[in-house]
Amino acid sequence: MYSFQKISTFLDGEIIQAPQPEAIITHLLLDSRKLAFTSQALFFALKGAVHNGHNYLQAVYQQGVRNLVVSEIDDTVVQQMPLANILCVKDTHQSLQALAAQHRAQFRYPVLAITGSNGKTIVKEWLAHLLLDKFCVVKSPKSFNSQVGVPLSLWEMQPWHTLGVFEAGISQKGEMKNLQKMIQPTLGIFTNLGTAHDEGFENREEKLLEKLALFKECKTVFYKKGNPLLDQYLANSPSKHQWVGWQVVPNISQTTNAQVSYQAKGLHSTTLQIAYQGLHTFEVPFALNDHASLENITHALLAACCLGCTAEVLQQKLNALQAVAMRLSLKTGINQCTLIDDSYNNDLAGLQVALDFLQSQGQHSRKVVILSEILEAGIAQATLYRQLATLLSEKKIHTLVGIGKAFVAHKDFFRLPTTHFFESTEAYLADNQWKTLRDSDILVKGARKFAFEKIIKKLEQHSHGTVLEINLEALVHNLNFYRSLLKPSTQLMVMVKAYAYGSGLAQVAHLLQHHQVNYLAVAYADEGVALRQQGVRLPIMVMNPGENSWEKIFAYQLEPEVYSFRVLAQYLDAYQEAATDKHTTYKIHLKLDTGMHRLGFEEQEIPQLMDLIEKSMPYHVQIASVFSHLAGADDVAHEAFSRQQIKTFRRIAEKLEDVAGYSIVKHILNSSGIVRFPGAQLDMVRLGIGLYGIEANQLHQAQLMPISTLKTHISQVKHIKKGETVGYGRWGVAQQDTRIATIAIGYADGFSRQLSRGRGKVWINGSAAPVIGNVCMDMTMIELGEIDAKEGDEVIIFSPEHSIALLAEQLGTIPYEILTSIGERVKRVFYT
Ligand SMILES: *Cc1c(COP(=O)(O)O)cnc(C)c1O
Repeated sequence: MYSFQKISTFLDGEIIQAPQPEAIITHLLLDSRKLAFTSQALFFALKGAVHNGHNYLQAVYQQGVRNLVVSEIDDTVVQQMPLANILCVKDTHQSLQALAAQHRAQFRYPVLAITGSNGKTIVKEWLAHLLLDKFCVVKSPKSFNSQVGVPLSLWEMQPWHTLGVFEAGISQKGEMKNLQKMIQPTLGIFTNLGTAHDEGFENREEKLLEKLALFKECKTVFYKKGNPLLDQYLANSPSKHQWVGWQVVPNISQTTNAQVSYQAKGLHSTTLQIAYQGLHTFEVPFALNDHASLENITHALLAACCLGCTAEVLQQKLNALQAVAMRLSLKTGINQCTLIDDSYNNDLAGLQVALDFLQSQGQHSRKVVILSEILEAGIAQATLYRQLATLLSEKKIHTLVGIGKAFVAHKDFFRLPTTHFFESTEAYLADNQWKTLRDSDILVKGARKFAFEKIIKKLEQHSHGTVLEINLEALVHNLNFYRSLLKPSTQLMVMVKAYAYGSGLAQVAHLLQHHQVNYLAVAYADEGVALRQQGVRLPIMVMNPGENSWEKIFAYQLEPEVYSFRVLAQYLDAYQEAATDKHTTYKIHLKLDTGMHRLGFEEQEIPQLMDLIEKSMPYHVQIASVFSHLAGADDVAHEAFSRQQIKTFRRIAEKLEDVAGYSIVKHILNSSGIVRFPGAQLDMVRLGIGLYGIEANQLHQAQLMPISTLKTHISQVKHIKKGETVGYGRWGVAQQDTRIATIAIGYADGFSRQLSRGRGKVWINGSAAPVIGNVCMDMTMIELGEIDAKEGDEVIIFSPEHSIALLAEQLGTIPYEILTSIGERVKRVFYT
């Protein structure tokens, strides 16, 4: 614990004022939307590409924050915050890192750092699980591994911990040096070197060297042999520390260190042998049929062995390990609830992240938290539960369900509108109280041993087994990619029409609202109404205002696109009736046709339009924007045509602005246009497919992250004889004795009937299986042949590894159609 005074001695800066120099600081805050423990927190005003923390100083002050680090501040602002301690430094970002490094340097226990392109988070989580009883581990919450995530992670270090495990991730040159200085790791794991973030570096070699900077002072570093770049580098550079390179061999030859061999035992278990400081044999409770799982588990086990865990203890821990990276996911709950499933572990830092996520979900105003007791060694329980109570009150939680004996013992600490306490998960589920939950956002978070997946099972709304998983982190990554192409002053409108390109309207819109895009656009008024009803406050443009939708447009403050005189006349009629509030400006958007020939005023109509604007536009109606759409932005063949469209648009838009007499926002670029015509961003751009992970030009696909996985399962497996037929019309004929599987997806789910008769294929346990016969409405039969699969197994239709683009190509269509055809009954699950 530090006082404000003490912290200011660590950081090179000037104290602007310090009415309470002895104020105790226990928490660091960086985001005005994610405040917690405000009375003992220090807020760093960071300057980013999109946000500037200095703009929120008064806001955080009003919410109770009394300690601030800034790099600039006006006297008038200081005067409004008489109770705040304010330190002014040269660079708030650097100061944050310096503070984290100072804090870290106080501790002498081992610190293990993990870097690499993939698998950092899962290796960290698995390792922490394996070490549970031997060490008191402090680790990065979620995947906090960036220039600001790492300082927050290190800040969690306390004297009672005995080991730190932290992730380090970089996207640009020079960043790892900072991370090394902060983390000061003594042990390392290098997971692998992939293609992620390649664009931030000259070449793969530079990226490798940059990553290795993390391990400068490490005694031992684990890595997998077989990457030519890394192997060559290590061969040529004698190093003072020990690099333990492991490799997979068919049979372990006892003498060599760090050899690994494995053998599948059915689909749900693998025997893994590791030779490292002795020969150890483990039973891993899942299949290691993909390289990633094998690498991840081997890295975790090697590090655990190195830290002195016995094979026996590790085996016990392995038995309870889960195959997938447990991640926070968003699901549809019973009784119109939204369910946030984070049922894997529970510590205070992780809980804070999960509560922020809960708050960013504005679907319902009532927030419910179902929590297991927190297994955090080191702190007195009373202190821990008092902190927890403060946190839940600050986050305005309405209902708390606390599960576990420690919760029951400290129940008097919690002063929320509703609280329930139970000794065990079973007692909670037996009580029936859970059935009364409705119209709420519910966070379910518990330590592994409380088996909260049982609660999830009850609270989740069940539908048939086909699921579209959406990676919200990937969406944000893509958003930031497009933002990085924009000039600072360019506004961003995001297209969420067609159910956000099939991925889920409300959830995507809330994410965009949280990340402060400027506008949303939908195709129909009903989509806009749905967004308003679910708490979305951003301005919303409606592109196809139907004849019967005007009442809704006014009632829900939607902004119509006006593309013809007919629509304009309808709007003005409706305005006479509905626009009763004389203090409101009613906004419309004018669409011009510059060559797409879909909707929009044509050039010869412009004089008449100008006349109308000048003479008969009501005073309270504002033309919020004027725009047009490119017909061939994604194809270099149409470049000249696109440029002509842009030119025409500019000319007409400026004329309209002139007659209107005020400045009007102008926009013409869609996703592919943003990439191709940086000079035509004008005042705003309209991002669509790119957000959803598809770069229509095919120029920067590698810089986007695929956002979705469509998967189902096997309902039944059958053996059929040569010559027998499969499905309607008997189109599928077995060419030999074979096995087929019926899977729970059909054309009503968006698995097109065009994929019939071998044209489409799906992935099962890593192998491709073709469709046999015709696709049915709800089901499809596939030929398994020799593929090892059984009823209930997962079937992948598309995923980051099996791209939508490929499926689109097989079907002779474009990714847009694949995304937007996924049936409404397919359950969407969001995760981060
Ligand atoms: C759908 C749409 C967009 C977005 O297009 P993408 O190719 O998905 O980026 C932009 N503008 C208008 C008018 C649209 O209808």
